[in-house]
Amino acid sequence: MPRLSGECLCGSIRYEYDGPLGAIVHCHCSRCRRWHGAAFRTRVVARREAFRWSAGEELLARYESTPRTTKTFCRTCGSSLATLYGDRPDIIGLPLGGVVGDLGSRPAFHIFVGSKAPWHEIRDGLPRYEELPPDRGLIHRILEP
Ligand SMILES: [Zn+2]
Ligand SMILES: [Zn+2]
Repeated sequence: MPRLSGECLCGSIRYEYDGPLGAIVHCHCSRCRRWHGAAFRTRVVARREAFRWSAGEELLARYESTPRTTKTFCRTCGSSLATLYGDRPDIIGLPLGGVVGDLGSRPAFHIFVGSKAPWHEIRDGLPRYEELPPDRGLIHRILEP
């Protein structure tokens, strides 16, 4: 059993992950809001080598959202899947909306709260950062052994 598995809305693309995870982050930046069509994106950093597409990889579409960031999504249903980083081929960003079941960790903090949707109110007690946390490494570091 992999630690974590997930799938797109239409179920054609599935993935499995069996490795350590970084901090779970709620990102309120305008890019993430548009990409997800939601108030914010919840994502975690994972090791590329421990991640695999278990079905439907041929249906994966790619969008270069910045020169160093490629978003992947399902060609059929449009679900947001892994994010690939040109300057960090060892890690991926994984949106948690598509994860099946409970991955066992909880969100750690909010980022880019300075550009959050005005109609959305954050009501939890997690730390909030206007942009990135002072220790920027928190975002891309794998925290668990
Ligand atoms: Zn799909
Ligand atoms: Zn964002």
